[in-house]
Amino acid sequence: MILILLGAPGTGKGTQGNLLATHYNIPKISTGEILREAIEKKTELGNKAKKYMDLGNLVPDDVIIGIVKERVKEKDCLNGCIFDGFPRTVKQAEALDEYFEIVGLKLDYVLEFKLSRNKIIERLTGRLVCRNCGKDYNIISKAPATDKKCDDCGGEVVQRSDDTEATVKNRLLVYEEKTKPLEKYYRSKGKLATFDAEGTIQEIQDKIIQFLS
Ligand code: ADP
Ligand code: ZN
Repeated sequence: MILILLGAPGTGKGTQGNLLATHYNIPKISTGEILREAIEKKTELGNKAKKYMDLGNLVPDDVIIGIVKERVKEKDCLNGCIFDGFPRTVKQAEALDEYFEIVGLKLDYVLEFKLSRNKIIERLTGRLVCRNCGKDYNIISKAPATDKKCDDCGGEVVQRSDDTEATVKNRLLVYEEKTKPLEKYYRSKGKLATFDAEGTIQEIQDKIIQFLS
């Protein structure tokens, strides 16, 4: 099964993607996570990407397309995968279609997540993540039990450098301008399924699984 998760930042794509990956036993490919890992490791890619990410801008298409093509070649993707945060531009979507065509794979669905702008800003600017295990928290709704320490692993809980209010607002603008056109792109191919991202994590997950089965 091949799925794409589409939606503005803060709509819960990553969370749903992790659950779906476990449920279907296929990997989730998150370009954002790959880039953040590269930044942590201070690789050439990481140093280049950080400049774009901290401002809430997109990393150039050719860089991203290269990363994804390398990743999907790996053995764990043999039974499919879930793309989270990719594609984010029409150019990326076209490159992915071309790749599927060449290797003879078929995209099943694009799951789109919708949430109001206010909710998105509240979720993202309040979001905290564990530097060690990646578990996420929220200052308002899901704070760690001990100040700045991860409940699960004791790691340091921090704000992502692109979750500041100014960067979040730019990420939303960039989403509207560059990524929103993918809605039409995939709808016209009959692949788009839209979900309200307002409910609980479990409610949304149930709706998706029901839809897919
Ligand atoms: P979110 O969905 O919460 O914005 P991600 O972790 O998916 O977060 O992405 C964080 C940042 O990484 C983006 O703002 C962008 O700079 C970069 N990035 C991730 N995926 C892509 C992509 N497919 N194309 C271009 N830039 C990307
Ligand atoms: Zn942790």
